[in-house]
Amino acid sequence: MKFSAHFKDVPLLVVTIIAVLLLGFTLTKTRNAEALMSESPMPPLNKQEAAVILHKATEPPYSGKYHRQGEPGTYICRQCGMPLYSSEDKFDSGCGWPSFDTELPGAVKRVPDADGQRTEIVCAHCGGHLGHVFEGEGFTEKDTRHCVNSLSMAFVDKGSEAERDAFARRQAADMTATAIVAGGCFWGVEDAFEKLPGVIEAVSGYTGGSVPSPTYKQTGVQRDDGPCRSGAHPL
Ligand SMILES: [Zn+2]
Repeated sequence: MKFSAHFKDVPLLVVTIIAVLLLGFTLTKTRNAEALMSESPMPPLNKQEAAVILHKATEPPYSGKYHRQGEPGTYICRQCGMPLYSSEDKFDSGCGWPSFDTELPGAVKRVPDADGQRTEIVCAHCGGHLGHVFEGEGFTEKDTRHCVNSLSMAFVDKGSEAERDAFARRQAADMTATAIVAGGCFWGVEDAFEKLPGVIEAVSGYTGGSVPSPTYKQTGVQRDDGPCRSGAHPL
């Protein structure tokens, strides 16, 4: 049985439910890393930027172009273009890197650093490395210092078209979500979902199992019809 053959005469919801019961394959609407990169309005990273953003290197102190920057505007992610920090939250800590006492709401994610002591900060949208955050130093009332590499950011002037575009991207991203649904035929279900209003992207793969990146055979499903599209992405 191939679900693609049933799409013409069976409502999609029924097809999906049947597929869940029979096979448990999944279809995911998601914004994977490849899609994020292809959507980025930013130019490709140069070697220095890639070392910092992708491989967590640190630029030398006092070497970045933003540590003394005081113009009004917004600092955006060098990799994905999302707004990160406002110039209103920037202060001179004297440390040699741009310092902010808070981020724009939801823009930055904190993760334990690999050194086991510090807290790393990354772009909440693309995961690009920004720097580290420190608390309890008493620089400002917020008592927080985001120590950010200039190479991880780009600056857009207050009121500029580039600043408006950055916040429009943020708003568009906030309005999207990921849904995981089940279907029996990768190709047919993916095609059907991509045609639904509001769906940005549909990506096929397996979910819910215990084997990382399983092959079709490892899913334990022995059927002749199988996924209609080879090379589907494991989730
Ligand atoms: Zn980013």
